[in-house]
Amino acid sequence: MPQEVILLKLGEIALKGLNRKSFEDVLLKNIRRRLQSAGAFSVSSRQSTVYVVPEEESADLDLAEERVSQVFGVVGYVRAGVCEKDLDAICARAASYLEESLEEASTFKVECKRSDKKFPYKSPEISAEVGHALLERFPHLQVDVHNPDLTVRVEVRERYAFVHGEVKPGAGGIPVGTGGKAAVLISGGLDSPVAAWRMARRGVELTAVHFASPPYTSELAREKVKRLLRRVARYAGRIKFITVNFTHLQEEIRDKCPSELSTVILRRFMLRAAERVARDEGCAALITGESLGQVASQTLQAIACTDAVATLPVFRPLIGSDKAEIVKTAYQIDTYDISIEPFEDCCTIFTPKHPRTKPILHFVEAGEQAIDGEALLEESLETLETEWVYPD
Ligand code: ATP
Ligand code: MG
Repeated sequence: MPQEVILLKLGEIALKGLNRKSFEDVLLKNIRRRLQSAGAFSVSSRQSTVYVVPEEESADLDLAEERVSQVFGVVGYVRAGVCEKDLDAICARAASYLEESLEEASTFKVECKRSDKKFPYKSPEISAEVGHALLERFPHLQVDVHNPDLTVRVEVRERYAFVHGEVKPGAGGIPVGTGGKAAVLISGGLDSPVAAWRMARRGVELTAVHFASPPYTSELAREKVKRLLRRVARYAGRIKFITVNFTHLQEEIRDKCPSELSTVILRRFMLRAAERVARDEGCAALITGESLGQVASQTLQAIACTDAVATLPVFRPLIGSDKAEIVKTAYQIDTYDISIEPFEDCCTIFTPKHPRTKPILHFVEAGEQAIDGEALLEESLETLETEWVYPD
């Protein structure tokens, strides 16, 4: 065993009863895949803990730590010093491994967990023993069991003992791939990447569908979406990115449909197109970044008119979120900076002056008859561009 490892704590996954084994298998596979570019690590699980163990000198623990912090299904992670299961060895390792933090702290306590019940000392005895040793070695320290600057944690496990400080919060959620597959309608804005991330956190594997209308929208706008997806992929794993050309369809809507209904009509065609792609890709649902009342097309009435064309469930994980909350998540997942770059989106190129905020379904349906929607959809779907996007 090397001197230092990373321990991962699993949360909800442990609650899944009979599915637990397959959940855990998916999780381990996701962790291994994310660690590939950080060097050689072995990844195995025992008793709700995953061990990430470097296999060669060159394995990069800093990078590995960052990577595992982005894997859904992990509630906490911590780097830990490894030692033999011997009380003196544990005391010495705690003092050396946590030396810096112990020197900085004024107060501390020791907490011990013993999953090996055959170990000859009980947890409180181990804690007391390690506490004494640390007080001797660092005489400036005082014990504070209620509100210490530093909690030294000792875990006596099957084959080794581990010492570490505070466990850091992981990405939470459930492992991607255990929750089926859904197609996210992705724009270059703030909302849809956050919506995608939220659903991936619930275990959903993502396929991304983007509508582009060149030359009104530029290749740079599409590149921007791809860069956003790379950020999301740090958490969600690789994402299939499908671009659908909407130019002709949008020109027809602009020229022939009632202008105050053009936004909601466009959105209905987006859902129709996304749904066809989704079915071909084996996706069981659609995801959008809509948030109630944010813009004219996101009123209850407008959403109802849009939703009327869907036969797959449409998930809108941000529907009840404030912009400030969405922005906060965008910062957290590092999509904010890219999202605010100014590029045109197909939604914003032919926006009418006075979109109807309370559209009525039968008028929308009638307004749509002005164009040959089916033929235009077919035309759009003939030109799919598909590529895989990997974490950056
Ligand atoms: P976002 O911040 O995600 O762009 P928004 O607040 O700008 O959302 P809209 O432009 O009305 O709102 O888009 C609502 C939703 O429709 C988006 O969250 C996204 O799911 C989908 N959408 C918008 N434009 C596109 C596009 N060009 N391609 C694919 N989906 C899109
Ligand atoms: Mg937008």
